[in-house]
Amino acid sequence: MLPYARQEISQADIDAVVDVLRSDFLTQGPAVPAFEKTVAEKVRAKHAVAVNSATSALHIACLALGLGKGDWLWTVPNTFVASANCGRYCGAEVDFVDISMETLNISIPHLQEKLARAKKQDRLPKVLVPVHFAGQPVDQEAIWELAREYGFKVLEDASHAIGASRKGEPVGSCRWSDITVFSFHPVKIITTGEGGMALTNDPDLAERMRRLRSHGIVRDEDTQAREGSWHYEQRELGYNYRMTDILAALGISQMNRLDTFISARHRLADRFDTLLCDLPLKIPQRDPKAESAWHLYVVQLNDVQRRRSIFNKLRAANISVNVHYIPVYLQPDYRRLGFEPGYCPAAEDYYVRTLTLPLYPAMSEADQDIVVTALREALA
Ligand SMILES: *Cc1c(COP(=O)(O)O)cnc(C)c1O
Repeated sequence: MLPYARQEISQADIDAVVDVLRSDFLTQGPAVPAFEKTVAEKVRAKHAVAVNSATSALHIACLALGLGKGDWLWTVPNTFVASANCGRYCGAEVDFVDISMETLNISIPHLQEKLARAKKQDRLPKVLVPVHFAGQPVDQEAIWELAREYGFKVLEDASHAIGASRKGEPVGSCRWSDITVFSFHPVKIITTGEGGMALTNDPDLAERMRRLRSHGIVRDEDTQAREGSWHYEQRELGYNYRMTDILAALGISQMNRLDTFISARHRLADRFDTLLCDLPLKIPQRDPKAESAWHLYVVQLNDVQRRRSIFNKLRAANISVNVHYIPVYLQPDYRRLGFEPGYCPAAEDYYVRTLTLPLYPAMSEADQDIVVTALREALA
């Protein structure tokens, strides 16, 4: 089976993990802060907080931004459920902004309209979660301007987009947002098996997220001087969302090859564009101002009726195509909250015609030719 995504693990990765296994610390040792420093420097952010998944990072980011009961979190429907669920973990209400059919990211005009309406109804969001779908950067500058105007916080879900940039600004720099989150699940750009990270330039947000990832506990020198050096205080209710040193060592080693991974993805995406250009489908639209991380290569079929049969034919040919994403609000757990089909027409129209083709750094041109031939036959 040709997978739709696959991690790439080198001997150096294995050695890095084994070194930690032989060391004094399996968790809460030196590897986690070293991994945080590596990622923060690469994406030009001041602070990084590593956790056990992007889902955990989104949760503590929302808490640090003050999201709670009675607040609204807005995101897009064309994403993984985690981008919306983080709002519900905090007791907030969740709403969705439709996507642009060009970028497949949040539609800035729709966002503007929805904000103007929400302002009149006194229902402005506290947190907006834009998602860099497929690795293609969102126009964060435009969102930041709206955030200044309407007073909401911006939490970038960059689970697909470590290594991407727009106008020379790396995704994760948080120049136009409060917090950015990366995922290190094995299908993503770099992996730690499971893992995530929150980046920010705000020292208070960083400190709050550090505390929340470890039970809300603080060990500070003043109280230790008074009470004894064993002393610690739980200042608020936190979680155990810590990353282990074993996984952080894998992350550091993977970061050494981030640029190589991204250029391999670019090469394959360029080649797909050429090989697919005469087929009855739409290839991904490019943003001339941006460098995508090419987490996913998604095509949109002209003939919606045939998506299922084409999907099945490719799977039967041992090619693991996929579909990203079912609009989040169509999930039964969201329908229960009152969402109905038709709520975000662009996201729904996109969903019925989309197909994700295999793409990962170790994919050979021969593998890619197999995918293209099979797709061509399925469409014939
Ligand atoms: C993968 C993913 C997540 C969740 O990441 P985990 O590390 O698996 O928790 C969140 N948002 C998006 C857009 C994702 O693709």
